[in-house]
Amino acid sequence: MFSILFIIVPIFIAAVFVFIIAMIVSPKFKGKMMSREIKAQKYMIEESKEDLKSISDDMAYATKDGVKTTAGAIREGLTKSTVFCKHCGCEIDDDSKFCKKCGKKQ
Ligand SMILES: [Zn+2]
Repeated sequence: MFSILFIIVPIFIAAVFVFIIAMIVSPKFKGKMMSREIKAQKYMIEESKEDLKSISDDMAYATKDGVKTTAGAIREGLTKSTVFCKHCGCEIDDDSKFCKKCGKKQ
C-alpha cells in the first residue's frame, strides 16, 4: 500500500518540477499556457456576459448624478470664460461691465 505512495509522490514532485522549469525556460510553453489562460478568461466572460452587463448598468445608474455634476462642471469650464480686472486683478466674467470686487468699470 505505502509502496504505491512512494512511487506516486516522487513522480508528482518531478512533474511539478519539470512544469516549473518549462515555464521558466521555454517561452513557447509559457505562451501555450498563457493562451489557455486567455481562452479560459474569454469563456468566463462569455458565460458571465449578462451579469457583467447588469453590474455595469447598475453602476451607471448609481453614479448617474455624479457623472452629471462632473459633465456640468466641464461644460461650465469650457464655455465660461473669465478675464482679470484691470484695476485690482480679481478674476471676473469676461462680459461683466464692473468688477465684483473693487466695483470699477472695465
Ligand atoms: Zn477690480
